[in-house]
Amino acid sequence: MTKVFKFGGALMKDATGIGRVAGIVADFSHEPLVVVVSALGKTTNALENLLRFALTGETEQLRTAFEDLKQFHSNIVSALFSDDTQSPAAAVEKEFDKLWDALQTPYADRYEAYDRVVCFGEEFSGIILESYLKNTGIAVSLLSARCLIVTDSNHTDASVNWELTGKTILSRVLPALDEKKVVLTQGFIGSDLQGRPTTLGREGSDFTAAIFASVLGADELSIWKDVPGLMNCDPKRFEQAEKLPLISYHEAIELAFYGASVIHPKTIQPLQLKNIPLKVRPFHQPDSEPSLIADDTSRDSEKHKIIVKDKQVLLSIGSRNLSFIAEGNLTGIFEAFSKNKIHINLMQHSAVSFSVCFNHDADKLKALMADLKNDYLLKYNTGLQLLTIRHYNDELIESLTTGKKIYLEQKSRVTMQLLVKDS
Ligand code: ASP
Ligand code: MG
Repeated sequence: MTKVFKFGGALMKDATGIGRVAGIVADFSHEPLVVVVSALGKTTNALENLLRFALTGETEQLRTAFEDLKQFHSNIVSALFSDDTQSPAAAVEKEFDKLWDALQTPYADRYEAYDRVVCFGEEFSGIILESYLKNTGIAVSLLSARCLIVTDSNHTDASVNWELTGKTILSRVLPALDEKKVVLTQGFIGSDLQGRPTTLGREGSDFTAAIFASVLGADELSIWKDVPGLMNCDPKRFEQAEKLPLISYHEAIELAFYGASVIHPKTIQPLQLKNIPLKVRPFHQPDSEPSLIADDTSRDSEKHKIIVKDKQVLLSIGSRNLSFIAEGNLTGIFEAFSKNKIHINLMQHSAVSFSVCFNHDADKLKALMADLKNDYLLKYNTGLQLLTIRHYNDELIESLTTGKKIYLEQKSRVTMQLLVKDS
């Protein structure tokens, strides 16, 4: 009756959070348990910044940001370990040295460089958590996800090689569980067949946890969150936010696909295939009822759900001579998006233009436009907000769009999407 738990960085931003994680793990450690952790606090963002400084040659900023990140980790370590003999300080220091080397090494391409640098966040958190759990008397075995999750070489958004990953997980994890140890591993990171570091996409730890749950045939996956459960909208934005007691896998896939940040989009499918329930559990009230995602559609339409994505760009791709944008052109346009690793959030096609909405990343937008500008007329708007409403009604749409300019609108029976800007 194996359980898989995932704890994200937001829960482990300080020593208190890590202490709480250890408390929850201890409460469940009498059963077979796999614990997946991500990088502490905002470490992944910090590592992205380090890489940017390294690539642009801003050595002074690089040094300062590197020391800040090191200090952040070392403060947490000092707060957690009073006894130096138990402290992982030396091991963490060694990883920081490796990170520094990685930042100095030239790479084949920026995506590969990204994976080499960013994976350190999870390495640090794995080491610190392992020592801390041991220190609190929990029998734990840290199995590096770098050795368990085998992927292709599509850096920053790698696809999992399920066959090899499955074999590796079974052969490494089951013996540790048999020895009554809690298995600790990291989310988000893996390696390709050549052993080079890869990552599964930002916020990918949920997906890692789902891979473990699926391969092990776990009886549940729990994602611990700093909210009361799965909400119908973001409580930080909407007063009327309510907890959802139960939604179906299908509804959850839709929500994650449209950008509900509570679950990574790839998480649901492996669980659905094996009918493994996903629980979203409140970190601050571990005993309260979790939200359940399962094979049950009975309550899906009970409440509307609102998903907001900020920092959107709308690129309109027009033909140069009023000729139609036809299937042949679309293939090339999609190839340019795929090559630049841009995920499309919404698109609309008219006779002479094709409009596409995606997350604004200045570097990617520039590279995409360079690829398309010879063949097409390009215009774009930034600073837009994408609203997706499931199970909408007119009154709700009205209240969400008052005072906003609508750039694009799409509607099916269940879902409405609006690309808007404050006017
Ligand atoms: N640490 C990674 C990130 O922040 C993965 C995760 O948190 O799931 O994107
Ligand atoms: Mg994170």
